Amino acid sequence: MTDDAIAPREHLTDWLRDAHAMEQQAEAMLKAMAQRLEHYPDLHSRVVEHLGETRWQREQLEGCLTRLGSSPSTVKDITGKLMAFGESVVAMMASDEVVKGAMAGYVFEHMEIASYTVLIKAADTAGDLQTKGVCEQIIKQEAAMAEWLLQHLPATTSNFLSRSARPGVEAKV
Ligand code: MG
Ligand code: FE
Repeated sequence: MTDDAIAPREHLTDWLRDAHAMEQQAEAMLKAMAQRLEHYPDLHSRVVEHLGETRWQREQLEGCLTRLGSSPSTVKDITGKLMAFGESVVAMMASDEVVKGAMAGYVFEHMEIASYTVLIKAADTAGDLQTKGVCEQIIKQEAAMAEWLLQHLPATTSNFLSRSARPGVEAKV
């Protein structure tokens, strides 16, 4: 290997840090959503459930980083790209509209699915089968959440539209 070569394990560690930052962002988003949605009980309970999964995922990633000799405290800040994406999600949430929140959640889950797809391949290439196993468990939770959000988007939309059409009824959250 020449001096400028980078081993798969280094990229894996780097991408795990990105994923950890992503999960911290997910946790903040889901927490914000869980505090609202009082008129959308199904969506609320699924969000609360995924908040629990997200905390577990963050802890698992911390375990992977520790095993790789890195540490969650040295986790670099969210990359520019992720930050920009997060800001757009937060902007959608700030509009206090449940439909946009559910859409943003669906998009976010797919970014997570893409990230863990990359991590599974990188962990496999680096020979880190423990990290691979963790990411395979996590990606199932992300896919299930994405699927749930999509399946319930029509119901969320119609609940929003009917609440919105009634005078004096809060529709947004
Ligand atoms: Mg996640
Ligand atoms: Fe997720």
